[in-house]
This record gives sequence, structure tokens and C-alpha cells, in this order.
Amino acid sequence: MQPSDTVEKHFRLIPPQKAALKRLGITTIRDLLYHFPTRYEQAGVETNSRELIPGTKVTLFGTLTGLKAKKLWKSRRNITEGWFEDASGRVKVMWFNQPYMASYVSEGTALRVSGTVGGKEGKPYLANPEVEKISAFETTKGLFAEKRSDDSTLEPETPNLFPVYSESRGVTSKWFYHALRKVFGAGAHKHIDDPIPSDVRARLNLPDIETALIWIHAPEKDAHAGAAKKRFSFEEMFALQISRALERSENDIERAFSIVGAADFAEAFLKVQEYKATDAQRRAIAEIIADLGKLHPMARLLEGDVGSGKTLVAAASAYAVVNSRPPNRTSGTLQVAYMAPTEILAGQHFESFIQYFKHLPINIALMTGSSCKKFPSKLSPNKPTDISRAQLLKWVASGEIAMVVGTHALIQKSVKFQHLAFAIVDEQHRFGTNQRKALIRRTNAEQTRTVAEAHDPGISSALVPHFLSMTATPIPRTLALTIYGDLDISVLDELPPGRIKISTQIVSPKERALCYERVRERLLEGQQAYVICPRIDEPDPAKINAMMAKSAKAEAARLKKEIFSEFEIGLLHGAMKSAEKDAVMQKFGAGKIHILVATSVVEVGVNVPNATVILIEGAERFGLAQLHQLRGRVQRSSHPPYCYLLPEARGEISMRRLKALEKSDDGFRLAEVDLETRGPGDLYGRVQWGISDLGMEALKNPRLIQAARESAQKIVAQDPTLSNHPSLAERVTNASKELHGE
Ligand code: ADP
Ligand code: MG
Repeated sequence: MQPSDTVEKHFRLIPPQKAALKRLGITTIRDLLYHFPTRYEQAGVETNSRELIPGTKVTLFGTLTGLKAKKLWKSRRNITEGWFEDASGRVKVMWFNQPYMASYVSEGTALRVSGTVGGKEGKPYLANPEVEKISAFETTKGLFAEKRSDDSTLEPETPNLFPVYSESRGVTSKWFYHALRKVFGAGAHKHIDDPIPSDVRARLNLPDIETALIWIHAPEKDAHAGAAKKRFSFEEMFALQISRALERSENDIERAFSIVGAADFAEAFLKVQEYKATDAQRRAIAEIIADLGKLHPMARLLEGDVGSGKTLVAAASAYAVVNSRPPNRTSGTLQVAYMAPTEILAGQHFESFIQYFKHLPINIALMTGSSCKKFPSKLSPNKPTDISRAQLLKWVASGEIAMVVGTHALIQKSVKFQHLAFAIVDEQHRFGTNQRKALIRRTNAEQTRTVAEAHDPGISSALVPHFLSMTATPIPRTLALTIYGDLDISVLDELPPGRIKISTQIVSPKERALCYERVRERLLEGQQAYVICPRIDEPDPAKINAMMAKSAKAEAARLKKEIFSEFEIGLLHGAMKSAEKDAVMQKFGAGKIHILVATSVVEVGVNVPNATVILIEGAERFGLAQLHQLRGRVQRSSHPPYCYLLPEARGEISMRRLKALEKSDDGFRLAEVDLETRGPGDLYGRVQWGISDLGMEALKNPRLIQAARESAQKIVAQDPTLSNHPSLAERVTNASKELHGE
């Protein structure tokens, strides 16, 4: 049996099992070995049938007798029942709806059963216990035994941790357990080359692949499972770091427009702004400017909390670019593209850039799915005018337009630039990796030959734009280092002065009415409010948990009917069409809607300065970083902003988390608290990064992440094609397949 063999080659699978394995993404034996348990079930205390206490978990050794399958008359359920005997006596056992039980174990086979004792004292029974044939089990133990010769002294004879796998209809944990036993028995796990180089493993004290596979599927004690998990979680992060380092090395052999004198331009730009740049903004601008001067394209992420002033940083550097001439030219300018995730945001930035660049003799354009505009126009020099898409495309291609602000519309094939030197992506987490890359790959059609030759023929055929990605998603540093391993990072860790601090309060059920009165006061002063709900729709009555979570639709109706009938209430959620969403946002922006009831869709970027209150229902259901983003929505005016948190459940941990939000207004600090208190699975936006829960575990360990990053960079620097690291190359390919859902 080889790791690359298909599962089907070695296992007789019935169609539902095939389908289930497919759903779980398991085709090969290797996939099977990499399908890790999600947790382990502790087997019960070893005892005997005479001393059973109802409600406890126990493990017994003995034999079954008198097994009979029958049908319960009333419920029509299948039941298999009999007696389990050991040296001390016997206890009744039964299985519901497992008719194969009777044929699985024959009379007198030596067994180990474990389960929870049911019934009353003096009349105990075991319902649905797990069963192991002991002889078969010991065969496997023999196999595993060679690995534990070193520290076997105090080991129990049989393992007491049972792996529980993520199941899919058709394959159960038990199926995995038995299948893997066969795989280990055939020694397939010995044929997987370790993707982690041995020096790295040694330095971090990680078990090798063979040991780790055994330990993760069949641990004898918690420490083994823990060590194996640590290893695989490192492995995932390491593979990710390697692929990021590869991307980075590809970037670094590309050529870009080297922008000279950028620092002076940026300085001139900042001088005429109405406010002084913060130190953090100056630092970020200097880092970007230094990159723009290089011959290789910048690849940088600008991370800064909501309202930290990322736009100004982008504008100062864009200003330097649009003031620069293409190489060997005496006219024309280099071009800038700025991509935002929504039409509203793109429109807002278009207006800002018109203001920022109003003293310059350049053209700025807006391009979204629904409109194209240009500024200035011949007819009205102070206002942008609508132009046709065809005209816009022509002017972008001819270099007439120096700066284009837009949505995804910018990455359509038809968009060609003459000299695109700088590409900026705002709220970058809202775009997929491929969309972000598409923006940089805009072909600079005409200059391809001439400029490339001027620079250095033979190295690269086209010039690649400098790339700046911006995000306000507060994530822990370890995560940033991992998922942005291909980017240099600039951080805005300081808010512009004069911001009024937001006051955040946890509201108890008794205070709800009072809280509504506070909101009413704001509304009567002419300000606006958000009410955020965790769900869109009416709750599914089948799910008790979901039933508690307020739905945006129902809440909007309730508020209109019972609380705020004199105000206009709008509804916004992710299931609405984008045109509908835009229309609602437009009305809210124009003050025609007073209260916007929404799901968390409003978290990103939208700027309605007149909104000063946010009320968050079911607050404990959101990640702290996300709550922080949400309250950032009302921190945009000179009125004091308020955030009211209305948790449904008031558990100790929930309250501790929400209190952190009352105290701190540092989004990155809050993301760290998220990581510590809820675990990585709950990190905001986790899903889109394509990291498993196991991989996320590594993020709690900065030393591990730092080590993964350093070794990844070292390996890629020495072996940029990974030709000397075939197993690592394979692991990286597999990881990126998983990431892209292939
Ligand atoms: P974000 O980082 O969330 O994109 P913005 O760029 O939208 O933040 O800036 C938020 C607000 O702060 C804007 O109204 C902007 O004009 C203002 N601003 C930016 N930098 C400064 C500064 N140095 N001093 C004062 N106000 C600033
Ligand atoms: Mg912004």
C-alpha cells in the first residue's frame, strides 16, 4: 500500500461511502492519513460489571452472550440487546438501530466495551457502547509498540483515547478508525517523506511524520496527541509560509517603474493638506516611498485600524506617481489604479481624490459596474461628468487618465493601461487573492517593449506595477505574518488626534428600554443609528441556539411597530442584491433612513458620519475584532459616538470578552484577546484564509510562527524551485489545492 494509492484500491467501498469520502476531499491513502481526528474521546474508567454507577463512563473487558435483534413494537426501532459478562458478573447491553451488531460480534469473542452507564442503581445497563475485539486490537498495538519503546514504562495496556473524526453521511468515526488501522498495518505511513526538514524539526522539537501520524490517530496519552497536533499545525503554517515565500521571490525578480524624487512630491502633497499627518502616517509613507524608488515592484500591506487615515497614505504615494513621467518620455504621467470593494466606497474615494489632486493638471476617472465618470470635464470644470465606458477605456489605454478609482470593474480584460505604475487595493480582505493579483497583471500594452528594453533586456518583458494593499481587519500579528508572508507590512498604530473616544456599554436586559431612550435622544438631535443583528431571517425553530439570535428582518419590523414607529427604519443584509443594498445605503447616507437594521454586512468601510449610535444584538456571537469594526461605523463625526452591546447569553467568558471591548479601543489588541479567549476557530474572517482549525492552533505560538517564517524564507532563498525539497513541494501543492477548493 502506497500513500499515493487510491482508497478504493484497498477498501471495498459502497456508494454512500464513496460519496462521503469525496465530500471530505479524500481520494488517496495519503489523504486518509491526513484526515485527522477533531478530538479524542476519553474511554471510561476500567471497572467491572458489578460496580457500575449510572452516569459514569466505563470500560469493561469480557464477552457478549445472548445477542438478539428485535423491533420495538411502538417506535418501530431496531434494537439489539444481550448481556456483557466479565469475571465479576454481567450487565445488560443494548444498541439502537445498529442491527449489524449481532453479526459483528459472535458469542464468546473477547471484547472491550466502553460507554456511559445508564439505568438506576442496582439496575444498570449500557446503551450504544463502543465495542472493540481485543485480539484484533492487540495486533495493532504490536504495530504501534515499536514507537513507544522509549517511554513505555507507565503506559496502560490499552489506549484510553479514542479518535473522533469529522464524519460525513456514509462514513463514521468507526470506519476511519478501522480503515486507518489497516493503513498503519500495511505500513503506508512509512512511505511519506517528511515535508519538514529534519533540522527544523529538531530545533522545534517536533516528532517526525511517521511518529506524528501514529500519535495523531492512535495516541496513548494526551501528550502524544498534543505533540502530533503541534507538528501538523506547524506543518500547515510552514507550507503556507513556503508558498508565500515563493510568491515573494517571483515578485522580486519582476521589474517595476522606479519612481525618482517621490519623497519630495509626497512632502509637497502633505504640506497643502488641511491637517498634519500623524507620525504613523509619515512612517508608512516613507516606507512606501522607499519601495517606489526600487527597480522591483513593491508588495506591501498597509494595516491600520478603522479611521487611522489609510487613504491619506495612499494619496500621498499616489501623488508622487502621477507626478512622474514614464521613462524616456517628456510628456504623459505614470498611472495609478485604486480598487475598492463596493460602488459606494469607490464613489467616495473618487470624490476624495478629486479634492486631493485638485491642483494638478491630471484627469481622474471613476469606473464601476454601473457608471463611468471623469474629472475635470470641459463643460463643468468643478464637477465630474459621466462618460461612456468605451471612451474611458480608450483614455486609460492612451494614458490620458492618470488615476482610475473603481470596483471589480477595473479587473475586466478590456481594461488596459498605458503605464500602470501603482495599484492600490482598499479593504483588500474583501477581494479574493486572484482578484488582487489580476489588478497587478493589467497589461501595460504599449510600453512593454520599449521600457523593458531600456531597463534591462532579457530579465523581464513587462513592467509590473507597485502594489499596495490596505486593510482594517485587525488580526493578531502571528496571523498577519502567516497569511501576508509575501508582503511587507506597514502599520498605522495611531489614530489622528481629536477623535472623540467611543463610549461602549454592555446593556443588561433590564436596561434595554433605557437604552432605546438614549438612541431616541440621538435621533431627535438629527443623528442616525445602526442596529446590528446576528441573523438575517426568521429563526429555524429546529435550532434552539438559532432561535435566540435576533433576526434583522424580524427586529426591523418589531422596532418599527413597538419602539421607533415615528422613525424611518431600513433593512440591510448580505442576501440582498447589490443594487438593493446600494439603494438602502444611499438613503441612509442621505438621512432618509434614521435607523438601519443590518447584519454584519455594514462592517466594511462605509462612511455615514451622521450615524453616531450603534446597538449590537447578540453581541457575544461576534468576534471582538468584528465588534470593533462594527463600532468603527459610528466613529466618524464630531458628535460623541455610542456603542451598546446587548448580549443574549451572559456566560462568564462572553462577559469577559465584551468587557475587553468596553475597555480597549485597539483593534489589534482585541484580536489577540479573541485568539486567547475563544480560540483561533472564532477569529474574524477565518474561513477566507483557508486555514484549518488545527493550523490556526499554531497562531497561539509566536515562536512557532516566527520559526516557520524564517525557515521558509531560508529554504526558498536557497532553493527557489524546491527541486531539492520534493516532499515539501508536494505538501505546498496540496495545501494550495485545499486553499482553492480543487
Ligand atoms: P481608514 O484608515 O479607515 O481608511 P480614512 O482614510 O477614511 O481612514 O480616514 C478617516 C478620517 O480621518 C477621514 O475623514 C480623514 O480625512 C481623516 N484623517 C486622516 N488623516 C488625518 C490626520 N492626520 N489628521 C486628522 N484627520 C485625518
Ligand atoms: Mg478606508
